[in-house]
Amino acid sequence: MRFETKAIHSGRQVDKTTSSVTMPIHLSTTFERAADGSYPNEFVYSRENNPNRHVLEDCLTSLEDGHDSVAFASGMAAITSLIEALPADKPRRVIMPSDMYFGIRSLLSDTDIGTNFDFDIVDMTNLNNVEKAINRAPTGLVWIETPSNPLLKVTDIEAVAQIAQEAGAYTVVDNTWATPVLQRPLRYGVDFSLHAVTKYIGGHSDLMIGAAIAKSDSPMLANLRAWQHAKGAVPSPFECWLALRGVQSLAQRMATHCSNTSAIADFLVHHPSIEAVHYPGLAEHPGHHIAARQMSSFGGMLSFQVKGGWDASMAVAAKVQLFTRATSLGGTHSFIEHRASVEGSTTMAPSNLLRVSIGLEHVDDLKEDLLQALE
Ligand SMILES: *Cc1c(COP(=O)(O)O)cnc(C)c1O
Repeated sequence: MRFETKAIHSGRQVDKTTSSVTMPIHLSTTFERAADGSYPNEFVYSRENNPNRHVLEDCLTSLEDGHDSVAFASGMAAITSLIEALPADKPRRVIMPSDMYFGIRSLLSDTDIGTNFDFDIVDMTNLNNVEKAINRAPTGLVWIETPSNPLLKVTDIEAVAQIAQEAGAYTVVDNTWATPVLQRPLRYGVDFSLHAVTKYIGGHSDLMIGAAIAKSDSPMLANLRAWQHAKGAVPSPFECWLALRGVQSLAQRMATHCSNTSAIADFLVHHPSIEAVHYPGLAEHPGHHIAARQMSSFGGMLSFQVKGGWDASMAVAAKVQLFTRATSLGGTHSFIEHRASVEGSTTMAPSNLLRVSIGLEHVDDLKEDLLQALE
């Protein structure tokens, strides 16, 4: 089956007991055991597994061309579990990209993850930095985020995966911004593709789930499954059901997100009030050629810097009418956000940077809104 078909059918069938076409939401926390002690449908207790989560995991595995998936209560729960699931025989040292999702920075600075592991944070757009970091000390895990938050930096997945593999380190790609429609990291030798399902896969800003999709069986995958069962940061059946509803239109939504964003990038590049536009679809973006090779299109996220600094960019965010001033991304509504003021004193975001998640509205309405806000 092709992607669009798998997104709708994978793991799902007409319900045998009721003939309902959409899968029921199984809220039951526990499942009956047969007289002989067996579990006729293999489900025992909802934290360990439940029908809605099971189908979502199967669907994500299929969409990423993976071996297995493990779903968690949020993207951050999946990220935490991935780092902690590093097998005990691996060095507790992780190489991370310098431009990355801000929640990971908080994880390192505010929790014991930051002290239980050594982190080496480097700009991975330059492969020399990755080589140097790998040679500095034995490494267990290399974390890739591409395109990255909030500067849309592009990392060569295949090249970094190869460097990591030669050093015996596991690799993860945070594939949230690209989605499996545009980028399949497991094809390039990466061990895990990670998603904040919260974003594009859910697609409607109304659920929170994270998932890691594994390329193959491994001690780390076994740990991850054990962490899910035993530590218990699991998504609810209802949210899994919502994610399965959202994923059915993922390919079609991404096509519109990409074409809208590309048109907005072209328009912003030529606007006199704009200092810089960060979008890998632009020919002048430093990662354009790598993105063109490893992605089928350039995504629905872009950021831009407004001439005049902090105040000028805040003024643009204040004047938009159609864009919603909100954090997060990947929904049907367009969002705009001044990252530096959201992230606080430890921010690495330029003070005049606005990040936008381009939604599914008509592109001309979005352009007109930005035009009046930039006046
Ligand atoms: C949102 C996001 C996360 C975290 O997901 P949550 O569901 O909010 O915990 C991780 N990585 C990226 C790139 C994200 O955009």
